[in-house]
Amino acid sequence: MGNMHGTVYRNGKQIDVGYDVPTTCEQPGCTERIDRGLGYLCGSMHGGDEFSCGGYFCGQHLYMAPEGYLGTRCLLCRDRGADPTEESSDAMVITYD
Ligand SMILES: [Zn+2]
Ligand SMILES: [Zn+2]
Repeated sequence: MGNMHGTVYRNGKQIDVGYDVPTTCEQPGCTERIDRGLGYLCGSMHGGDEFSCGGYFCGQHLYMAPEGYLGTRCLLCRDRGADPTEESSDAMVITYD
């Protein structure tokens, strides 16, 4: 919590994170100036987790996480949370016989 600064791995690349790291919204086409604090993070953990990409987005491009999940989500991750089978064919599918 608070104003931590650190580095995390995201998609195999090391990135600086924290409230003092300026960046721009990662939504394609958006040029909003933000920082890499938790307030702009997709998900609840820097670097992302299984439910979020770990990207940083402006307030306009962050949405409430689906019920039962922590933090906020970008549009892509929010939709993926709503229907995990839609996005990729190797998403976990449970079948009952
Ligand atoms: Zn995301
Ligand atoms: Zn944005």
